[in-house]
Amino acid sequence: MTHIRRTNTMDIYLEQQRKTVVVRQKWKYNWLNEEGTANWNYEQRRDWHHSADNIIWQNWSNKFSFLAVVLEETATNKHLHRQAFNVEFDIEWVLDNGHWTANVTKVKPETSYRSNVDRSNQTINVISRDLEYTSLKKGTVHNTLNHEYAHTLGGGDEYGIRYGNSYDPIYVDDIQALLNIGNELRERYTRDVIDELNTMIHGVNFLAILK
Ligand SMILES: [Zn+2]
Repeated sequence: MTHIRRTNTMDIYLEQQRKTVVVRQKWKYNWLNEEGTANWNYEQRRDWHHSADNIIWQNWSNKFSFLAVVLEETATNKHLHRQAFNVEFDIEWVLDNGHWTANVTKVKPETSYRSNVDRSNQTINVISRDLEYTSLKKGTVHNTLNHEYAHTLGGGDEYGIRYGNSYDPIYVDDIQALLNIGNELRERYTRDVIDELNTMIHGVNFLAILK
């Protein structure tokens, strides 16, 4: 049996047979250009989306276990107790009814841009080179698309004043974390997904464990 929960920002599939949770977002793209750059052709759009989906799949899928805990036993939920679900994440390119509008701007190499996620308008603002892995500090790796994706799942920035934030958040020293300046996942990044999952089967809650 598969339970499906559709929210404004993602669809969650709880597949009991496959013991898998799938977190799927639908992205509707706007392909934009900085003045002086060539329009996106179809191949470039397709490649950009494939790379973005691949980055999310590689960095997020098969990294978490969601452990089911039956708090209130019923005839239909008791078999779930202590079952571990693998978790997959992907994005789907849609032409209508997206969860997110993704504005992807092709920019000149010298142009700097502060990519961001506007949750209140369900909009992702990124640039063409946000698929690249870079480093903001020796010993750290960073991918902006991956970082912005974490924002779409609900997390806030964790880097501090020295990297452009207006204050030092609680996880400011956890620099390897994705919502800081690193690329590592943390269990806290699935908090909103878990909150939704906990509404899906009566009497059953889930606990996120990073594998
Ligand atoms: Zn951010």
